[in-house]
Amino acid sequence: MNKQDELSCLEIFPLLIPQDNERLVYDGFVHTGGKDLRLCICLPSSGNLSDATVKCEWRLAQILSRHSAILKQRLSQAADLPSFLQDLKNLLDQQPHQNAQLQTETSVVCSQLISEIENIGWDKLLSVDSTFQNISLQLRDKAERSHIIKIRLSSKHPADAPVISTNLPNKFDFHWNSKSTLRHVVDQFQEVISKYLDFWDNMDEIDKNTWVLEPEQPNCAAVHRRIALDSNASLQIVVDPHHPRMLPECRFLGADQVVNPLREKLNSNLHLWDVESSLLSNLEKLLDRSFPSPSNSKKEEFSMECGICYAYRLEREIPDKVCDDSRCGQPFHRSCLYEWLRVLPSSRQSFNMIFGECPFCGKSITVKTTVQG
Ligand SMILES: [Zn+2]
Ligand SMILES: [Zn+2]
Repeated sequence: MNKQDELSCLEIFPLLIPQDNERLVYDGFVHTGGKDLRLCICLPSSGNLSDATVKCEWRLAQILSRHSAILKQRLSQAADLPSFLQDLKNLLDQQPHQNAQLQTETSVVCSQLISEIENIGWDKLLSVDSTFQNISLQLRDKAERSHIIKIRLSSKHPADAPVISTNLPNKFDFHWNSKSTLRHVVDQFQEVISKYLDFWDNMDEIDKNTWVLEPEQPNCAAVHRRIALDSNASLQIVVDPHHPRMLPECRFLGADQVVNPLREKLNSNLHLWDVESSLLSNLEKLLDRSFPSPSNSKKEEFSMECGICYAYRLEREIPDKVCDDSRCGQPFHRSCLYEWLRVLPSSRQSFNMIFGECPFCGKSITVKTTVQG
């Protein structure tokens, strides 16, 4: 390419710079729609324009994709690079209206969002992505617990309601109309969380004063807890978040001789339940004992791994079948014990039960063949 051509190129796109001595690679930016967009042109050593490769960033590609046939044709017909670049510039100059509109749409969405966030308070904003459509907000309740709301704005925001996910125990139902803003969502969320305060207070008391085996890290949405009772027994409760001080659904897990007396105690003491007292103190009153707690024991004493696979969690299953010999009390995953007994010649199957021996102490043990989680 001669010097004159090179100067012409720079006149058309001043930011498109030759990268090599042979003037075969041009890399840089073209100015269109008020933006500089990246473009790279590689000419073959023959200098034949129709074999040139053109690479560009996605925004430019988006504009050019509608004209790819014309561009290919001009590339093959152009006398030299400056005339192709002039064609390209003319083509881009015909797009200003579209580009401006695209830009206005984005900036309208952006400025609308900024004013909505201002209205909530910037301190509540946790993150916003580059599309301005996915927003996370962090709010605090009266007990300073943190709550995160993830909001996906509709492309027709605010005409259509956003999609919202929260850490509430129940689905967050909110009202939305075409005049709503994020502020309305936040106000409704604050009102909803105020109704769960007693639930979270009661669950926090359990989490602080007992060994919770499940969930491993309870969050605000979790309504169940499996609480350690002793080294081979635990109590699973499912709490109604709207009535946290009512008797929860209770299920005992563990060796029969530990669990049966506790179950009987719970049933015969039901009349002692007092909705004025906390959930934990009611449970302790009915069971007539206190739960092991971080102040008097170590969690390892209650970790209850499966005696066959030595893991605690097996997909969604936890070791909830326990050897009934109180001196052994070894817990197993039902599916592990079933697989273990099934292949032993000493085991016997009848209806849906398998009868065999505890792999630890040799005492008889049974497990249902229909494995439940
Ligand atoms: Zn197992
Ligand atoms: Zn055993």
